[in-house]
Amino acid sequence: MNNYILKTLSYNKQIRIFFMENTDMIKEICNHKNISKTLKTALGETVSIATLMSGTLKGNQRVSIKINATNRKYKIFADVDSMGNIRGYINDALLNAPLDTINNLYVEELIGDKGCIQVLKDLGMHNIFTGITDMPYRNIIDDFSYYFKQSEQIDTIFSVNMVYNEYNEITLCRGIMAQLLPGAPINLIDTIKEIISENQSILSREIENFKEIPFLLFRDIEIVEQYPVQFICGCSKEAFYPMLYSLNKEELVDAYKNEKPMEIVCNVCGKKYSFSPQEIRNLTQ
Ligand SMILES: [Zn+2]
Repeated sequence: MNNYILKTLSYNKQIRIFFMENTDMIKEICNHKNISKTLKTALGETVSIATLMSGTLKGNQRVSIKINATNRKYKIFADVDSMGNIRGYINDALLNAPLDTINNLYVEELIGDKGCIQVLKDLGMHNIFTGITDMPYRNIIDDFSYYFKQSEQIDTIFSVNMVYNEYNEITLCRGIMAQLLPGAPINLIDTIKEIISENQSILSREIENFKEIPFLLFRDIEIVEQYPVQFICGCSKEAFYPMLYSLNKEELVDAYKNEKPMEIVCNVCGKKYSFSPQEIRNLTQ
């Protein structure tokens, strides 16, 4: 179990705190993509927050998140179910954005002053909840706290620690979500925030045994549950046929006449699918 969430209660059961180790998952999602550190950070944070939110779901419930940058062409998506199955990606416009404009941006600049978060919660039995808030902090992490306060009236904080090596590859990712339970004193959330910010070095240290971190940071931690979380793309060769159909007929005819297989790469997981000349020919008939 490499990627998992520890659900805990603390402060006399007045607050629930989820601790997540998801290094392998974030490496799998981000490191195969030829994208800048900023985009990896934005995608990694969005996916990490969605994964943490899985801890608030039950049964068949699902959550889908969409981050819209001020430039509305640019979007980041993540969706997750209560079992911690997560899928996350940046859209094609962002993936193919001109490198000279995207590469030099910080996350704050990418989000800009008119970014917004859209959340769709499928609570089952045709019960759909949607929430939309702006992003006053422009940094995804604090904007999600803002989303929870505005849209769900629950005091919530997030923390995501991502560490990079000299090649801009992610080597560590961990997250925390803390949420006040009904009746808890409101200032407790500030206390938790302070403790997390004072302990950033522990959270970013690769040698630290992750399971000990809750006890290093907080007193009276009670582990309630541990469950695995995993990245599942769900793509298949069949799913890419519509993409081939969308090419014009001449391109397809060219491909099979030249007897060259066509390769399509899934933008979400990086898996390659090859279509033989015969398969392409069948499409044109
Ligand atoms: Zn895929």
